[in-house]
Amino acid sequence: MTLRFASRNGRAHLVVGSENRLVDLEIASNGKFSSEPIDAFRRWKELREFAITIPDGSGELCDVNDLDAPSPWPFQVFGIGLNYRSHAEESGLPIPTSPLTFTKYTSSVAHGNADIPLVGSSIDWEVELVVVIADGGRNIAPEDAWEHVAGIAVGQDISDRALQFAIRPPQFSLGKSRKNYSPFGPWLVDAADVPQRDALRMTCTLNGEIVQDTSTDDLIFSVSDIIAYLSDIVQLLPGDVIFTGTPGGVGVSRTPAVFLTPGDVLVSTIDGIGTTTNRCVTE
Ligand code: ZN
Repeated sequence: MTLRFASRNGRAHLVVGSENRLVDLEIASNGKFSSEPIDAFRRWKELREFAITIPDGSGELCDVNDLDAPSPWPFQVFGIGLNYRSHAEESGLPIPTSPLTFTKYTSSVAHGNADIPLVGSSIDWEVELVVVIADGGRNIAPEDAWEHVAGIAVGQDISDRALQFAIRPPQFSLGKSRKNYSPFGPWLVDAADVPQRDALRMTCTLNGEIVQDTSTDDLIFSVSDIIAYLSDIVQLLPGDVIFTGTPGGVGVSRTPAVFLTPGDVLVSTIDGIGTTTNRCVTE
């Protein structure tokens, strides 16, 4: 079976079958794997072998809203800015010559279907392909990069535009790190099981209307480029999360600008990977 990985109540789980049943990894493996999600990321290739042995129909039915983010407490969360031509152009900014990197602080990580508490009146959406690092490392070559990825999920790089550009030169990180501003999920799909992993259709709807629609082969810097670039500078660690950038269609670039209001619903999808739903609420 395709390996899909989720976290619930801080414990590692496998997601099994078309009903998305949950199997507790520590229990199912008789303790071969611990309950810690980070242990699974560190031993992802072993986990892949183990997942094959789990029969379809195992596990318990679950409410997807009970899941945590698949990597619930990563050491590092990277965001890549202006990584689609369509978004750089709508922002009136030059195409970056290397990945424009900021951090989304770990405490902003939330499960895929988390509510978004709105603070102020300039909160914006950004649907993104999210990858989670398996065993990590330094100086990873682009051709080896996917080998260091555990899985793929869909996420939202929710952005407080006023805070993001509040000071000069702009420092994006705080404006992208309020509570629940880094939701992704609902689970990870093993990157090795995704045949077109560099060309996935990704969409975002706002209250049912499509606002973003792209193929991830439009990324300026591919997943492999980003991992090679980052790992030449910092050590990538098991469970690290990378938000790889958003395509055109965000609210701030519209005329007039559109920002999220309480009651708005964002639905984010990467075909073959997953869908998340985020409801905007008053803080
Ligand atoms: Zn972004």
